[in-house]
Amino acid sequence: MPYRDAVSRISIAHLRAQFAPRVFRALTSTTLSVNGVVAEVTLVDDVGAGFVRGPRRWFACPGCGRRANVLGAVEGLGWVCTHCGRWRSRNRGDRGLKEPPPI
Ligand SMILES: [Zn+2]
Repeated sequence: MPYRDAVSRISIAHLRAQFAPRVFRALTSTTLSVNGVVAEVTLVDDVGAGFVRGPRRWFACPGCGRRANVLGAVEGLGWVCTHCGRWRSRNRGDRGLKEPPPI
């Protein structure tokens, strides 16, 4: 499991910021490339939670096919979603039960 800050990630918001709105809406797929990890990723329209403004754009994860807001380039896996890549943040310590302190 890589740490999150070791994973190059891109979100839909990042992608949207790189295009004019009309171009972004017409986009059906995009090529993600970082450090030689290249993937042609399909964009899908689907409703999110509380879909007041209608469908949003999502990445279709190349690994599992699920919709994803963020994709990351994980070594050995390529571009995948958080479920497939399982990267974790630094502040998540050992959650296991610890010995109680001596009395
Ligand atoms: Zn996935």
